[in-house]
Amino acid sequence: KAFQDYPSLSRIIVVSTISGGGLIAYSEANGTNAVVETGTRKKKVVLLGTGWAGTSFLKNLNNSQYEVQIISPRNYFAFTPLLPSVTCGTVEARSVVEPIRNIGRKKNVDTSYLEAECFKIDPASKKVFCRSKQGVSSGKKEEFSVDYDYLVIATGAQSNTFNIPGVEENCHFLKEVEDAQGIRKKVIDSFEKASLPELSEEERKRILHFVVVGGGPTGVEFAAELHDFVREDLVTLYPKAKDLVRITLLEAADHILTMFDKRITEFAEEKFSRDGIDVKLGSMVTKVNEKDISAKTKGGGVSSIPYGMIVWSTGIGTRPVIKDFMKQIGQGNRRALATDEWLRVEGCDNIYALGDCATINQRKVMEDVSAIFSKADKDNSGTLTLKEFQEAMDDICVRYPQVELYLKSKRMRGIADLLKEAEADDGSKKNVELKIEEFKSALSQVDSEVKFLPATAQVAAQQGTYLAKCFDRMEECEKNPEGPIRMRGEGRHRFRPFRYRHLGSFAPLGGEQTAAELPGDWVSIGHSSQWLWYSVYASKQVSWRTRVLVVSDWMRRFIFGRDSSSI
Ligand code: FAD
Repeated sequence: KAFQDYPSLSRIIVVSTISGGGLIAYSEANGTNAVVETGTRKKKVVLLGTGWAGTSFLKNLNNSQYEVQIISPRNYFAFTPLLPSVTCGTVEARSVVEPIRNIGRKKNVDTSYLEAECFKIDPASKKVFCRSKQGVSSGKKEEFSVDYDYLVIATGAQSNTFNIPGVEENCHFLKEVEDAQGIRKKVIDSFEKASLPELSEEERKRILHFVVVGGGPTGVEFAAELHDFVREDLVTLYPKAKDLVRITLLEAADHILTMFDKRITEFAEEKFSRDGIDVKLGSMVTKVNEKDISAKTKGGGVSSIPYGMIVWSTGIGTRPVIKDFMKQIGQGNRRALATDEWLRVEGCDNIYALGDCATINQRKVMEDVSAIFSKADKDNSGTLTLKEFQEAMDDICVRYPQVELYLKSKRMRGIADLLKEAEADDGSKKNVELKIEEFKSALSQVDSEVKFLPATAQVAAQQGTYLAKCFDRMEECEKNPEGPIRMRGEGRHRFRPFRYRHLGSFAPLGGEQTAAELPGDWVSIGHSSQWLWYSVYASKQVSWRTRVLVVSDWMRRFIFGRDSSSI
């Protein structure tokens, strides 16, 4: 076929590759060496990570021109929102995981999996360097490298200890399934240990003091689950422990669940106080020893709290492989990989990053937004008419849909008010009070680290779906770009930018009560939201197998209570 298509060919070299073979034909006609590439070599996509972002990418990719090499130390997907339930046996660990080889089995995309962790990304040679998981645990150096055409980084994040002494050594984290299993065992072991003879009352109290550090959704949910486990199951089996067990929640800020509506925060704090969960606000942990934890209060005093078990849940930090990669590409001073709105790592053409390890860099976007407002000020007066303002906003929203949300947010209160005014404009040509220079300087102060999007499963999953759709239409959109008009240069971008749709969030508070914050500022708290929580989490399961397992675990718990065996 190559000889037919290129009659001037004198020689053909067939290059055999793992991915189906390729053909490079050399033409020496007219004394020049033209190189023609034919054949059907598939593009190799290396996917790092089998969490929310990676799995959603894998599930939605549907184009046979790719072969996907999945690399992750975890050969399964874990439904993290149910991990707090795993810590107390409300749901079993195996019910919230699904083997990645099941998820990755596809009719029209070649996928394969390697159980390994990537320790180095080399964008220059388009290689990732990996270490097999078995090698990591046995201390042997089982290392290898994998080439890629496209690299999708979805390695998530790790627990953040803020380098506080003693945290790593003495605290439990709640990030992985193994962590949840470890916590479950330790809780039950603590009750057994406190039941042994010849212990002082004080020692029993210390052993049964459970401290949770961090008043975010995970810390709060764990504290609530633990409270239910203790009150509904453990005190019946360990009656002597009833008056000794204590749960304390330490939070450095002035309130817990600060990312939720004020009504939810207030309800949660009141409920915890009624339940006897001791919420210590404004308490900053400074050190963790083997048997006590030191916390600084807002007044400057330091208290030492004896504990039996600590669960550390204060947020996320960067994984070493991402830190190393960021250094290589000049992003060393950041906390997460900066990408553009198309999820492409800044400065790296074929590398994409999504989920908790990445953040969309907004600084360039803000520069463009500034430029649009300057352009709208046609008479250079430094102010805009409402109509000009509205037109500028329309322009921005077409190019950068995600900025619309930000400008309407509380942080940009002035703009948000103007927008409302512009929407209600009766057509009169009054000037708006937008001082363009002031506005531009406000935008330029927007920290490039601003996370327009929270680090949640919802964001990670939507990014995975978006990127898979981009990959599916890569060739088509190369020819017919469909994205917004380019600010710099001519034409359009290949794809529309990523746009996040917030579907709401839940905060389970124990006692079959959940707080739900749904789109449109709709807040619902109580038993009805708990049923909504059950239905949403059942429907969001990655497979029918896990859906059936999770629902039957909930029923088992309703009928028989939680299992308190220490295995
Ligand atoms: P992850 O899901 O963490 O996946 C990262 C993947 O990368 C893993 O497979 C990991 O093994 C792999 N990996 C790690 N290092 C490497 C390496 N070096 N090389 C290759 N692979 C690697 N979000 C919500 O929206 N709602 C909730 O209710 C909610 N509850 C949560 C409860 C808990 C207890 C936790 C811990 C998180 C919760 N989250 C929730 C947050 C949510 O889980 C994360 O935002 C989400 O997991 C991020 O997805 P990801 O794919 O970026 O990372």
